[in-house]
Amino acid sequence: VAAAELEDVSKTYPGGGGTPALRGVSARFAAGSFSAVMGPSGSGKSTLLNCAAGLERPSAGRVRLAGEDIGALREPALTRARRRRAGFVFQSFNLVPALSVWQNVLLPQRLAGMRPDRAWAGEVLERVGLAGHRHARPDQLSGGQQQRVAVARALAGRPEVVFADEPTGALDLSAGHEVLTLLREAVDQLGQTVVMVTHDPAAAAWADRVLFLADGVVHSHLERASAAEVAA
Ligand code: ADP
Ligand code: ADP
Repeated sequence: VAAAELEDVSKTYPGGGGTPALRGVSARFAAGSFSAVMGPSGSGKSTLLNCAAGLERPSAGRVRLAGEDIGALREPALTRARRRRAGFVFQSFNLVPALSVWQNVLLPQRLAGMRPDRAWAGEVLERVGLAGHRHARPDQLSGGQQQRVAVARALAGRPEVVFADEPTGALDLSAGHEVLTLLREAVDQLGQTVVMVTHDPAAAAWADRVLFLADGVVHSHLERASAAEVAA
């Protein structure tokens, strides 16, 4: 089963000078898998992630999220599908500064019109080691802690897919390691699907599969034994 799927997706941005950011990309992200998307700057990594997640509309091709053809959805149905089916972790954390950790973690479910699952949100905060900081504001936390809140927020709504765009890009090595551990555990222990953009080979090594982009095209991919098997 594909948790997310691109079929022959092209994307040209308005004002992009006519140069496509993606050119006929097809990719399947199997449920319960951890995929990394790599490639040079400007190769289309973020565009691929944003199209797969319903944050950008492709110029051509099909996008399915949990089997649903989201390309066919108009607003506000697209936003609703994205909120229910996708969780996000960005390089810059993107927490709401005025809200507490706890409110940040519950926010996506509220925006999706779901009744927040507080018990599960409490568990994921526990899991990321920040249950004791639930009343803190983001600016009272380190970058690594803020990104762990973002991971908790992404998992709290039990989305089909967690999309992470350079989640370790703003972190030092040990904070980055903690975030990658959490994403890996989300796949191995919670059965989540993770799609992660990174330019860091050490981060990509945590994934089961690496897709390499160049100039808007998937030029190769690498399947590998899971990190757990490699470590064993
Ligand atoms: P990567 O994530 O690999 O660095 P991106 O997907 O961000 O690549 O960008 C791919 C190409 O699309 C680049 O040439 C970039 O300049 C262009 N691009 C990205 N976002 C936009 C946008 N919002 N408007 C116009 N061009 C964009
Ligand atoms: P809201 O006012 O947004 O409805 P809640 O009722 O979700 O807020 O939570 C009120 C307070 O209770 C929060 O500050 C939070 O610290 C605490 N809380 C409630 N349930 C949990 C839980 N499962 N884990 C951690 N904190 C919780």
